[in-house]
Amino acid sequence: MLTCKQATQLMSASQDRSLTRKEHWSLKMHEMLCKGCRNCHQQLNLLHQLGPEWQKRLQGDEEKGAS
Ligand SMILES: [Zn+2]
Repeated sequence: MLTCKQATQLMSASQDRSLTRKEHWSLKMHEMLCKGCRNCHQQLNLLHQLGPEWQKRLQGDEEKGAS
């Protein structure tokens, strides 16, 4: 069984490369049992769908602060 840390690592890896079948299923199994990681994965996917432009914008806003 994966730990939450390993699960999050697989999630971010899956944004850059395809997971092996084994990795994919261990992540799925973990997410079935762990609500926290399920939510985390949804947010990651959302960010990924928005794309690098938005990720930059969101991070940039934090650095700049309120203007
Ligand atoms: Zn977890």
